[in-house]
Amino acid sequence: MVSVGQHERIELLSYSEVEEVSGYVGNFEVKVRRKPRYVNESLCTGCGQCEEKCPARNIPNEFDLGLGMRKAIYRPFPQAVPNTPVLDRAHCIYFERGRCRACERFCPRQAIDFEQQDQFVTLKVGTIILATGYDPLDVSQTASFGYGLDNVLTGLEFERLINASGPTGGQVLLRDGTSPRSIAILHCIGSRDERYNTYCSRVCCMYSLKFAHLVKETTGAQVYEVYRDMRAFGKGYEEFFTKVEEEGAIFIRRGEDVEVTKQDGHLLVRAEDIFTGENVELSVDMVILGTGMVPRSDAGDVARLFGIGCGAEGFFTERHPKLAPVETATDGIFIAGACQGPKDIPDTVAQAGAAAAAALDMIDVGKVKLEPITSFIDEQMCSGCRICIGLCPYNAIEFVSLNGRGVARVNEALCKGCGTCVAACAAGAATQRGFNDRQIYAEIEGALQAPMM
Ligand SMILES: Cc1cc2nc3c(=O)[nH]c(=O)nc-3n(C[C@H](O)[C@H](O)[C@H](O)COP(=O)(O)OP(=O)(O)OC[C@H]3O[C@@H](n4cnc5c(N)ncnc54)[C@H](O)[C@@H]3O)c2cc1C
Repeated sequence: MVSVGQHERIELLSYSEVEEVSGYVGNFEVKVRRKPRYVNESLCTGCGQCEEKCPARNIPNEFDLGLGMRKAIYRPFPQAVPNTPVLDRAHCIYFERGRCRACERFCPRQAIDFEQQDQFVTLKVGTIILATGYDPLDVSQTASFGYGLDNVLTGLEFERLINASGPTGGQVLLRDGTSPRSIAILHCIGSRDERYNTYCSRVCCMYSLKFAHLVKETTGAQVYEVYRDMRAFGKGYEEFFTKVEEEGAIFIRRGEDVEVTKQDGHLLVRAEDIFTGENVELSVDMVILGTGMVPRSDAGDVARLFGIGCGAEGFFTERHPKLAPVETATDGIFIAGACQGPKDIPDTVAQAGAAAAAALDMIDVGKVKLEPITSFIDEQMCSGCRICIGLCPYNAIEFVSLNGRGVARVNEALCKGCGTCVAACAAGAATQRGFNDRQIYAEIEGALQAPMM
């Protein structure tokens, strides 16, 4: 991120959101809303004085998933680029009660600006890459895994707990501040489970093994890996699995159901060990849930905004799973990372590189090849019903005004010649080039006149 922030040909718009997208490959126009952070980015040096002096404290830190606290003016996460704080208007004493302004008084650069408003910038771009990522499964919807009980954490919560910049400075501690002596890590929470998501989230086995390794390294606690199938599919991953076994983690291959309850001040994990066929009960101090990856809650809205599709699970769809894995149905829009489906960081980075290369390739060539067979709408015959516009899977038809009436017009740069509009047009105004009725009859006649072999 630091290199991106410093690159002379990259303009980084942080704390911003895309509001509108129009145009097509080579000619996109993107309207971006820059949200007010109430800090002037060009004046702020990131010294942290404002954060230190801010009296509004004890606000749950979103990045630490509520395990730690933050001030009203804060850096959203450690090593943020740019290193400029943001003021949370909802918790700021000045915005609430009209007095305070401590951050402004102590800022040595006069960078605090309470008057900042939303700003809109319009970008003209040739290609777009979407890399909007995923959401962790909302485990509060799952009853039997014990989430909500003290010391039952999701995978991401544990990531923050064991991170050196996290709320405990990297120490694995229970709610009462003591170190756990035993931890159970439950795999496949919300993945490969008919009740939640049937797909495999692909990263949970490996991050669960990573947790076991880190726990062993930092606490010496007994670790139980309660798994279903071990999916150590990547380079060096199987070897890492063996290493964690050798470090002393105990592996229990469980059946479908697993239950976590509280008993005598401990957590009780009940599952069936499918190797022995017996029910096991583990009394542990901490439970980590290997929560899966789900599409972002706004994935559908983002897909509609950019005119791309989502699959049945809700992740963005690629044009072809093998031959066009970073392209989308809309020319010039590419996808990379977990927005396309669950994947780990190496796969995300590889896909991001491929998406960047594909986007650059288009820019470098400077031209796009049109489909040989595209649709054409006879504007004199068009009734302006707009049915074709709603049906076009490529957003290739626009509604334009012609001599005071509205008609549909095909953008040939976007049309893929699927023929949906031709089939749907009640007025018979839409045809496919090379495939009008006269041409098809001529082809049939020609075929029938050919000598029989
Ligand atoms: C508990 C846990 C532990 C893991 N541990 C590992 C590990 O050890 N090793 C490993 O390889 N993988 C690990 N993973 C997987 C890893 O998190 C993903 O592979 C990786 O985060 C995917 O990167 P991404 O950039 O596609 O998505 P994300 O990391 O989700 O990043 C997407 C970014 O896009 C931003 N964004 C979203 N929508 C918008 C929008 N509309 N406008 C602007 N910005 C937007 C988001 O704020 C976010 O910053 C783990 C996953 C979990 C759940």
